[in-house]
Amino acid sequence: MIRLKGITKAFPQKKGTLEVLHGIDLDIEKGEIFGIIGLSGAGKSTLVRCINLLERPTEGQVFLDGQELTCLSEKDLRQARRSMGMIFQQFHLLMQRTAMENVCFPMEIAGVKKAEAREKAKELLELVGLGDRMESYPSQLSGGQKQRVAIARALATNPKILLCDEATSALDPNTTAGVLELLKDINKRLGITIVVITHEMKVIQEICNRVAIISEGKIAEMGSVQEIFRAPKTQIGQELVFHEG
Ligand code: ATP
Ligand code: MG
Repeated sequence: MIRLKGITKAFPQKKGTLEVLHGIDLDIEKGEIFGIIGLSGAGKSTLVRCINLLERPTEGQVFLDGQELTCLSEKDLRQARRSMGMIFQQFHLLMQRTAMENVCFPMEIAGVKKAEAREKAKELLELVGLGDRMESYPSQLSGGQKQRVAIARALATNPKILLCDEATSALDPNTTAGVLELLKDINKRLGITIVVITHEMKVIQEICNRVAIISEGKIAEMGSVQEIFRAPKTQIGQELVFHEG
């Protein structure tokens, strides 16, 4: 489904460059919920931004269902990005727009007719449990509800993949549990592959099938959640699993 081959990312600095990803190879299978963990600054967000090419990798290739994305023009890439939704810790909703208008927004950009977009947005808001809050503004919604709007918006272009960067990190445990249930449901019902970055080990154990540990821009270890949480092989794995969990 997603294949990363030799992904390197270097950011320009005042003097030279800072390489934050050093040749990452990773395969994520269709229908998986795949976790990415690592210390702050390890390169998790950068890696995920390389998957949908919000960041252009310095070297390496990204494939989605066998199609190479890294060689596409900006125009074709815009099209391809619609098959990848993303949600963030701080939701990134448009504050001047209602929940309905937020969900319609990516469809407007994609040229979907207004009535059709509203119909689809209504379905999605119902799916995420906000059928009764469609006309609310983000400021009138709780954190969990805002994240649900963001999830509905991310699903508006029928993505194959949902990328979640610390999507529950701003939420309390109860609200987190609700959002995780929703993600599981989306994975099962819509068959959407999900990539989850988190510093919360519980989140990984709760919903992921496999997990990769990123350390200093490399994959330190990778395996089933059971394997990694029972017997992490690397020191960084042990630190994360035993001390942060
Ligand atoms: P956290 O858990 O704190 O979110 P992370 O694992 O997501 O950390 P990244 O945000 O991917 O880490 O950052 C990895 C490294 O890349 C850091 O040293 C960061 O300062 C650097 N970095 C990220 N984005 C940029 C950028 N646009 N320009 C320069 N350096 C960057
Ligand atoms: Mg990050």
